[in-house]
Amino acid sequence: MGCAPSVTPHDIELDALREKYRHERDKRLRKEGTAQYVHVTAEMHDFWEADPHTPPVERDPVVENVDVVIIGGGFAGLLAGANLKKAGVQDVRIIEMGGDFGGAWYWNRYPGIQCDNESYCYVPMLEELNYMPSKRFVDGVEIYQHCQNMGKHFGLYEGALFGTMIRSIRWDEATRRWTIVTNQDDELRVRFVIMATGPWSKPKLPGISGLSSFKGHTFHSARWDYDYTGGGPKDPVLSKLADKRVAVIGTGATAIQIVPFLGRYAKHLTVFQRTPSAVDHRRNDPTDPEWAASLQPGWQRDRQENFYIFSGEPFPSKPAEDDYTCDFFTEVGRNVSGRVAASDKAELSIEELVAIREQEDYGVMERIRRRIDDIVDDPTTAEALKPYYRYMCKRPCSSNDYLPTFNRPNVTLVDVSSSKGVERITEKGLVANGQEYEVDCVIFASGFEIAAQDQKVASGIEAIDGRDGLSLYDHWREGYQTFHGMSSHGFPGLFFTGFTQGGLSTSVTAMYEQQGEHIAYIIRETLARGAASVEPTRQAQDDWVRTIRELAPPDTFLQECTPGYYNNEGGGTGGIRAAVSEPYAPGFYKFGELIGEWRDKGDLGGMMLID
Ligand code: NDP
Repeated sequence: MGCAPSVTPHDIELDALREKYRHERDKRLRKEGTAQYVHVTAEMHDFWEADPHTPPVERDPVVENVDVVIIGGGFAGLLAGANLKKAGVQDVRIIEMGGDFGGAWYWNRYPGIQCDNESYCYVPMLEELNYMPSKRFVDGVEIYQHCQNMGKHFGLYEGALFGTMIRSIRWDEATRRWTIVTNQDDELRVRFVIMATGPWSKPKLPGISGLSSFKGHTFHSARWDYDYTGGGPKDPVLSKLADKRVAVIGTGATAIQIVPFLGRYAKHLTVFQRTPSAVDHRRNDPTDPEWAASLQPGWQRDRQENFYIFSGEPFPSKPAEDDYTCDFFTEVGRNVSGRVAASDKAELSIEELVAIREQEDYGVMERIRRRIDDIVDDPTTAEALKPYYRYMCKRPCSSNDYLPTFNRPNVTLVDVSSSKGVERITEKGLVANGQEYEVDCVIFASGFEIAAQDQKVASGIEAIDGRDGLSLYDHWREGYQTFHGMSSHGFPGLFFTGFTQGGLSTSVTAMYEQQGEHIAYIIRETLARGAASVEPTRQAQDDWVRTIRELAPPDTFLQECTPGYYNNEGGGTGGIRAAVSEPYAPGFYKFGELIGEWRDKGDLGGMMLID
């Protein structure tokens, strides 16, 4: 079932590598931090609000009372909706800016898109929908289809409003309801609102001078323009690029999947890289039907927990050979587990454990670096592609095609680390290291606004005003104020999903499922008790925030990481504005136990019902 610890190089100089990591980090640090990025504004319509997949639909405004509105129809919203339906709450509307369910999987249809952590864990509710993904890392189209199937299975298409963006959400004390206003002039008066807008869904652009001066074609990876490139999501033959010089800015998890296709089809591809991703071999076998048939009920939750133990626990609580996933995501954890088991000591001190974790981390990253020399022909390019930072400073990637793409004669890697990014954009192309690269098209694989850093910018919702007109954005300016991460005092019946002071899973859909179940329980109980709404007491909220902060470990690991969205571009997390903000330190499953016990008590402890 499981696998053994991996073999990693032992001839590494830890001190020298530590120094190299620091050097590479400092080289990239920009004093503007997160402010280096450009927010997409209304004038940049095509980068966000314009939907390349579904034409706009004219419809009359909806003006009505509803029990529950879920904002966002991605996995967070679908899992909240599914759990509400399972709990017997029927009057539910999902409002989604895209033309269908799917969220990230609706918008992101770039060539090569697949899930990055194995689909048997990532794609949720497999047992309930009696569905088995076709391979380990399934294609985006298959995941998108699963989202639609979830919508059908749980009756969530009824009442869904697609192509609709929320403008404001305001609490009305007189009616004990929220008024939701949308860009379609809908006015919904709602008892419970679930925010499922995703932790990073709005594209952002790199802050490069001259950005708007480029006269060629541009688009963001999350709004792929197949009219320009040719092909389509199911058949990504980008034939129209045969005479085009294409530039990609960014080498994160998205670019790793896109670049092989661009390399294959573009006349010339130039990849502008500031920080290389760590890219391992991708073992993407078709699903074995015999294995699938052998699975016992409860297998998916068991597998998700197993994945979490090896990818989320610093010192895994299971022996290495119990790792089911056996890939790059679980490798450091598995190796740590193997080392601990092989130790002569009955018990290791925390310092010894930390040292083992660090050694295994450096070993795995060195293995990743050395495989680049084996694959990439040109030594300068190979060296530039090597990631010098600790495992999990950036999102780990796997691809069998990314690194070999740099052996193609029509592909150039431009290392822009020394200038902390592309220097300038001109009418004709991009300037880096003093040289102008003329191109026909620039593709921004430059990532997304991070909700924890600025909820307003990331969600695009102009106002979320609770009791006495208190703005949620102001209320959280100095950090989240929540009870169990899912509700906040002064905001009755408003619920949050995502990375807010709750359980953090390495598989986000497991987290959304946990939150959906809990929120559905609270709404069901509130309705069953005949109350109009529910909110946490000030005391319960303060106690929870204190608990979270008292348990939080020092964030030295992320502070020392190379800049990226994980650590506020090197500004450190300060806890409160990290992309994965203030998780419950004892762990995802401990948090699940805590809220499970809270539900079992049945008294909605710490929450007050509103008549
Ligand atoms: P990222 O934020 O991870 O990457 C943005 C890229 O743009 C980085 O390489 C960054 O460099 C680069 N960049 C930014 N500014 C500049 C500049 N001025 N000059 C040059 N380069 C610049 O975005 P992604 O879309 O790749 O990924 C976002 C997240 O989405 C992932 O971390 C992952 O969680 C998720 N994802 C999941 C996938 C899956 O499961 N299949 C696939 C893809 C994404 P630098 O690193 O130096 O900042």
